[in-house]
Amino acid sequence: MPKFDSAALENLTRQFHQLPGIGRKTAERLALYIFKTSEQEAKELAEAVVRVKTEIRTCERCYNITEKELCPICENTQRDAGTICVVEDVVDILAIEKSNEYRGVYHVLGGVISPLAGVSPDDLHIQSLLNRVANEPVKEVLLAINPSTEGEATMIYLSQLLKKNNVKVTKIASGIPLGAHLEFIDDATIGRAIQSRSEI
Ligand SMILES: [Zn+2]
Repeated sequence: MPKFDSAALENLTRQFHQLPGIGRKTAERLALYIFKTSEQEAKELAEAVVRVKTEIRTCERCYNITEKELCPICENTQRDAGTICVVEDVVDILAIEKSNEYRGVYHVLGGVISPLAGVSPDDLHIQSLLNRVANEPVKEVLLAINPSTEGEATMIYLSQLLKKNNVKVTKIASGIPLGAHLEFIDDATIGRAIQSRSEI
């Protein structure tokens, strides 16, 4: 594979190439773009990357992304603390919030149980979810996990644990195609799936 005749440009290309969804050609184009941009713009980009790691943390309650102890959703007293929507990842919160159909709070699992990928229940934020159900006025846990084989197995695992805590466990309605990610589904479909959720 041809490489840039500059160690710095080649290094930046490799860094971009490591990002999700960025192929070698796109990485080369981005690296060249940075080379052509002004020093000021390049510095701003570099600072933005560092800021994400130094100023952003995860919410102590729900593991959403925040700059404070609690995220804006957990802090918002207008939200219904009696319903916790369990999602795999922070991007799923963004997708559900865009639908404007959900007024409860969230809990980010951090993935799904996957023996093949070496992800066990202990690797996910499951114990903290059970603690919340035990200590907060939670009436319903809505499972909004992406419908894959691992996702389905994770939902069954969670519902068995949660039901021991006398809480209603629901999941978002089918209509979200198997293997699809919430992040790529339109707002209206997510909205409908939340409205017509069913108990499991
Ligand atoms: Zn939060």
